[in-house]
Amino acid sequence: MPKQDLILLQDEGENWSVGFRCPCGCGDVIELLLLPDVKPRWDIKIDFRNRPTLSPSVWKTTGCRSHFWVRSGKILWVD
Ligand SMILES: [Zn+2]
Repeated sequence: MPKQDLILLQDEGENWSVGFRCPCGCGDVIELLLLPDVKPRWDIKIDFRNRPTLSPSVWKTTGCRSHFWVRSGKILWVD
């Protein structure tokens, strides 16, 4: 699995969104909102080694339809 280059956007210290290329290799950019008042939304945690964990899982409803978790910077695929 190639390293994920993950772009975290913040506004005044608040996590706003996170963007990264789909790990399946299709080339799509996935953008997830982290704000508290939007739906759907995700939580992100960055550990001391700068590895992201996202919850809930990411499920693309278009294109490649990839479904996966990001845990400590690793992609865990869901069938
Ligand atoms: Zn994909």
